Amino acid sequence: MLSNLATRDVETLLHPYTHLSNHRRTGPLVLERGEGVHVYDTEGRPYIEGMSGLWCTALGYSNAELVEAARVQMGRLPFTHLFSGRSHDPAIELAETLKELMPVPTAKIFFCSSGSEANDTQVKLAWYYNNALGRPQKKKIIARRKGYHGVTIASASMTGLPANHMDWDLPLPGFLHVSTPHHYRGAEPGESEESYSARLAAELEETILREGPDTVAAFIAEPVMGAGGAILPPKGYFPAIQAVLSRYDVRLIADEVICGFGRLGTWFGAQALDMRPDTISFAKAVTSGYVPLGGISIDPALDEVLIGQSEKLGGFGHGTTYSGHPVACAVAIKAIEIYRRDRVIEGAAEKAPHFQRRLSALADHDIVGEAKGLGLIGGLEIVADKASRRQYEPKAGVAARCVAFAQEEGLIVRFLAGDRVAVCPPLIITPDEIDSLFDRLTRALDRTRDWIR
Ligand code: PLP
Repeated sequence: MLSNLATRDVETLLHPYTHLSNHRRTGPLVLERGEGVHVYDTEGRPYIEGMSGLWCTALGYSNAELVEAARVQMGRLPFTHLFSGRSHDPAIELAETLKELMPVPTAKIFFCSSGSEANDTQVKLAWYYNNALGRPQKKKIIARRKGYHGVTIASASMTGLPANHMDWDLPLPGFLHVSTPHHYRGAEPGESEESYSARLAAELEETILREGPDTVAAFIAEPVMGAGGAILPPKGYFPAIQAVLSRYDVRLIADEVICGFGRLGTWFGAQALDMRPDTISFAKAVTSGYVPLGGISIDPALDEVLIGQSEKLGGFGHGTTYSGHPVACAVAIKAIEIYRRDRVIEGAAEKAPHFQRRLSALADHDIVGEAKGLGLIGGLEIVADKASRRQYEPKAGVAARCVAFAQEEGLIVRFLAGDRVAVCPPLIITPDEIDSLFDRLTRALDRTRDWIR
């Protein structure tokens, strides 16, 4: 029997990424408040938020300074915009700060409100740039299967997951996908991580040559894949990929929507994985998820081209009402101030070995095939047979069941395609809370094993 709130939910809300017919039966988990790394449901039950919401609430749930930053900006100037040369000090200050932090040459910052919009902007700018340079054929975008870049039409075209393409008439023409860099699933028996990386780079090169290098504009990659399964690239992957991209003048877009702002123990994921992108997309933890904000870095060459295009075409024909929303910028300024002052990112790096030890120990569990991560993110894969790596039938819903058991144990984690379970707690998690998280996850795995066998 669903509660009153649950009934109202089922009757009124179209839920993103939800099994819509099952939802009518199971109803929602309605959360009411949060504190530190915990969230509480309407019955007052606490859960460790082992996913930082959707990989975003890096500073946890009750940060009074972020709330105050939003309140003050709301009272001072709740809205203005950046169209037609209008500006405001939170956007200017945040852009200056981000320019300093970016690990890539950055002339400007473009703001939007989500990761999808950031990546959509990347595609549009890659096209606009090549038109300006007189290379109108150079428009194709290469992404990876299982990559996740969002849901707008261009972003979903780059996303490499069947659910984002089936019956959505996507991907659009001109969007290609190469292999997922997942050693556990993709490597040949006995193939080292380095050889596997070289093979993936060769596949990318063959793809570019087959399509024609003068038709390929950009390659997009998350440093660590998130929604595709919390998958770490094999050793040497990005240097190998990058050598190919620079041979054919293909831009590298780092989708740092999850990895940006400390997730891997560095400010950006690119720094942890020897990735040297031309541009970075960011969102989520830039405000610790408290208000929507996304954006991209604009490299000096692109900036120059954009200015030149204005001379030729007039105004820059791109931007949204909320590009550089003052409240979002004020919260981001405060979040970055806290990351710096409280050494949150250094702290994440210090806690990472403990987190990763607890995670990789789960690889010994009867039903876990792989358990691996970096910094404070990781994924595990549930398998039916550890030796052969055989998986359960997808319709058995084993990872979903594990996540449901975890919820009963007071832990929120997320199941992803391929019976993977992702863990991505707030960066402020303490060592004791890390232990509690993994104790609960272990109990959920035990219960899943007993349920399936
Ligand atoms: N890129 C990555 C790596 C993401 O994980 C996400 C969302 O999870 C997106 C892009 C899309 O961001 P949004 O949901 O804010 O549109």
